[in-house]
Amino acid sequence: MARYFDLICIGGGSGGIAAARRAASYGARCALIEQARLGGTCVNVGCVPKKIMWNAAHTAEVIERAADYGFRLQVHGHDWAGLVARREAYIERLNAIYQRNLEHSRVELYRNRARFIDPYTLDLGGERVSAEAFIIAVGGHPANPNLPGAELGIDSDGFFALHQRPARVAVVGAGYSAVELSGVLRHLGSQVSLFFRGDYPLRDFDPLLQNAYVEAARADGIELVSHFIPTGLKQSAEGLCLRAEDGRSVGGFEQVIWAIGRDPNTVGLGLEAAGVELAADGSIPVDQWQATNRPHIFAIGDVTGKFLLTPVAIAAGRRLADRLWGGQKERYLPYEMIPTVVFTHPPLGTVGLTEEQARERYGEDIKVYTGRFVPLELALSEDKRHSAMKLICTGEQERIVGAHLFGAGVAEMLQGFAVAIRMGATKRDFDDTVAIHPTSAEELVTLT
Ligand code: FAD
Ligand code: NDP
Repeated sequence: MARYFDLICIGGGSGGIAAARRAASYGARCALIEQARLGGTCVNVGCVPKKIMWNAAHTAEVIERAADYGFRLQVHGHDWAGLVARREAYIERLNAIYQRNLEHSRVELYRNRARFIDPYTLDLGGERVSAEAFIIAVGGHPANPNLPGAELGIDSDGFFALHQRPARVAVVGAGYSAVELSGVLRHLGSQVSLFFRGDYPLRDFDPLLQNAYVEAARADGIELVSHFIPTGLKQSAEGLCLRAEDGRSVGGFEQVIWAIGRDPNTVGLGLEAAGVELAADGSIPVDQWQATNRPHIFAIGDVTGKFLLTPVAIAAGRRLADRLWGGQKERYLPYEMIPTVVFTHPPLGTVGLTEEQARERYGEDIKVYTGRFVPLELALSEDKRHSAMKLICTGEQERIVGAHLFGAGVAEMLQGFAVAIRMGATKRDFDDTVAIHPTSAEELVTLT
């Protein structure tokens, strides 16, 4: 007979763990099913190892600039394999902490692959479990370009599996992972070419950020190759060779990294047996309550195809648990004003509408403030790359509906500003806030 729970979460990543623990805290009998390492994408092959690699790359930047501050340093290379070993040991500690947290929260953990066999029952490789409600939080995996020779390249999972730094790398893509991995590799010493289909990478971001990124990437020596629509990959004596639709062929790469988006993990989940409908791209459509077309089956996080970010998966899962088991009947996650940072060099951050989106929504009733400056930390340096900031306001009160920041420190800066903007801050509120000097953040409260 199948064991019965109030809630089963499928997927032990950011969303599934958060939802299960929150529901259990209200007394729900919960199970969580995870087929691989606890923590999911973020902990194992996403945010955490990425930020550690970014920290290493940033350390290289600081060392490069140390001479400007009077240090005479001699750097004897970089131990990539040693860094990876320490990074993975840290991740193993996190995996164990996640397991202990589930135990403390009294969430029952099954280490299997889950598949629906009917709307209320999962098969776990022979064992059966059933529940009154399900949360699908199975995340996604890197998209494969389905081109001849594509398997000769690697993806972001493959990047984290590298035990030595490739000397010459092609990165294909134009989004978060493409620019982040390019930056890490370049600052740790690789020759990097970034191939993208459009005029610029980061097409969905405000032009201020696109332009600032392009300028900084060029200054770092990343080769930016635009209008490149890949058609295949071949191994030759000189290395890997990428071909494009327009006949271009660029070779000599030790590694090619595909960073072209992610596909949801819905194949083989038995969703037909559960009667759950899928969107054309394989993601699970949900309403504002995270409900699928089956009222007792919910979906959160990357598998829903909306804002593929860890804090979004966590917030959606916790609020759903608050609503279903915590008596907070109106609680849900509105998918707006979500701050996000891309860990480039320097990083860029954004919250709210781009200028184009603001014009679409408010027409001419917007006012845009921009600032561009060389941060004080580069005052003594030959590297005079600019930081840049933009605030987009609307209405007589000049309510801020978008903020876009590029520069050292913005990853830490944006969180606090996002609170104010979500609360409805106006330009006047920013102007009336006394600046902290000398910082880059003060530029945001002194824009004219
Ligand atoms: P996941 O974390 O992917 O968890 C899903 C889990 O479900 C997995 O562990 C999987 O093994 C399991 N699973 C799948 N199918 C089954 C099944 N049938 N049975 C049992 N278990 C199953 N976000 C940020 O906010 N900041 C960042 O800096 C950031 N950096 C990133 C860098 C990279 C390279 C990548 C790829 C992503 C990054 N993200 C970042 C995104 C973030 O990792 C995801 O948004 C987040 O992990 C999604 O959480 P989730 O719970 O939806 O899915
Ligand atoms: P993204 O969705 O960010 O970007 C992928 C881009 O690749 C597309 O926008 C497209 O840009 C381009 N592309 C798509 N198909 C092809 C193709 N066949 N050939 C060439 N280029 C192609 O995907 P990522 O994989 O970078 O990241 C997935 C998600 O994970 C992100 O959206 C983000 O939500 C999350 N993430 C978050 C991070 C963070 O918070 N710092 C870091 C990494 C990932 P175009 O149409 O312009 O060609």
